[in-house]
Amino acid sequence: MPHSPIPARRTKIVATLGPASDRPGVLERMIAAGVDVVRLNFSHGSADDHRRRLVEVREIATRLGRSVAALGDLQGPKIRIARFRDGAVELEQGQTFVLDVALDGEAGDAGRVGCDYKALADDVAPGDRLLLDDGRLVVDVTRVAGSEIHTTVVQGGRLSNNKGINKQGGGLSAPALTDKDKADLATAIDIGVDYLAVSFPRSAADMHEARALLGSAGAEIGLVAKLERAEAVADDATLDGIIEASEAVMVARGDLGVEIGDEALIGTQKRIIKHARSHNRAVITATQMMESMIEAPLPTRAEVFDVANAVLDATDAVMLSAETAAGDFPVETIEAMARVCLGAERERIAQESGHRIHEGFSRIDETIALSAMYAANHLAGVAAIACMTATGYTPLIASRIRSGLPIVGLAHNPVAQRRMALYRGVISLPFDTSEMTAGELNDRALERLVAQGIAEPGDHVILTRGDHMNAHGGTDTLKILAVETRHA
Ligand code: PGA
Ligand code: MN
Repeated sequence: MPHSPIPARRTKIVATLGPASDRPGVLERMIAAGVDVVRLNFSHGSADDHRRRLVEVREIATRLGRSVAALGDLQGPKIRIARFRDGAVELEQGQTFVLDVALDGEAGDAGRVGCDYKALADDVAPGDRLLLDDGRLVVDVTRVAGSEIHTTVVQGGRLSNNKGINKQGGGLSAPALTDKDKADLATAIDIGVDYLAVSFPRSAADMHEARALLGSAGAEIGLVAKLERAEAVADDATLDGIIEASEAVMVARGDLGVEIGDEALIGTQKRIIKHARSHNRAVITATQMMESMIEAPLPTRAEVFDVANAVLDATDAVMLSAETAAGDFPVETIEAMARVCLGAERERIAQESGHRIHEGFSRIDETIALSAMYAANHLAGVAAIACMTATGYTPLIASRIRSGLPIVGLAHNPVAQRRMALYRGVISLPFDTSEMTAGELNDRALERLVAQGIAEPGDHVILTRGDHMNAHGGTDTLKILAVETRHA
């Protein structure tokens, strides 16, 4: 087992794979630079592309002694205009423009264009505002006549083939899982992803449907709800319902920002992160975090602060999209993001926590996890919190509390190891207890930490475990152990 250096960084980095990461040697350099989770984006590429990339990721991760999770991301019902006869048109402010769901898909011109989503004409009414191409163009609906949606252009510009349509305020009726998504979900199970993201869920019901489709594979694959519809975040009951129906959520700022407007997005990011953490779920902050690095080797100051602020908001992970999938500087982007996360984590508010301090606990394992963090954050000389875990659940709960100390998940199951790759502050290490006697477990755990450079003689380690190893929910013991020279 190679001993890789343990990164001090707590915030995890999700990187989308694509043609840029396919270039020779790039994927390995990206992983070496700190990628914790790779995103396989089913909006682009074939099943074979995703399979090939994941095989390569697993091979590199094993070779580097790293735990890297894979997140499959379903396209979802992204609504798009059809195509223009000449590829693109220029829309002028004040002109009339018609979206016609019955128009031939290739027949668009400067006056009208088709749409792949036939129910759009039923979902909009006069007075609605539609945003095209991620909000770059804005049109107001004046009249709906059969298949035709008549609009006035409020913000003009160039409009090209297959650009997305969002309705301001949300309210489009498309269900979250399309036929393509159902086929991609089967592919994702087959190629062995660790997490699966559902795009545009409206409510918990969409997540329940995805879970039902995962069937028996569902125990192994964590569901990520992408929060990108206005109605998903409109009230706490809906938001909390989606969070509870998922293992993690994503602040999908691209589509969400278009639907709710950027002034509402700022508070919504903070609210989503807070709610996810208080429900013991992980949270990813996504989209345009280092957008300028698609074409430049350094981030702008604004991007530095955007990533840093997400870290201070207590996100588990920050995500890169085109920066690593299609940009010119994928490795430099990972390096810059890692550097910024580390810098932000030095701030005191990133390390202190009042999480659930005034709340009762309901489960024994939860009580142990939270007590361990409380002890670790208050006792001088503690080097780490080590959790022997079957599924990664105890490290998840523990990592909901902010701390400057590493939380080490000691797990035998590679699925559990990879799942922990998303949790802020958690390092997962392979730990096979099957040949160990109950009496030697603690010593072996301390030796593992010393071998990884996480603790040294003279330190204390807070250890959590159950009496029955490898049983989910069995954690019932907290010990404060002294690291001695015999562990080195
Ligand atoms: P996408 O989702 O990159 O799949 O569109 C993220 C977002 O909308 O922010
Ligand atoms: Mn999106």
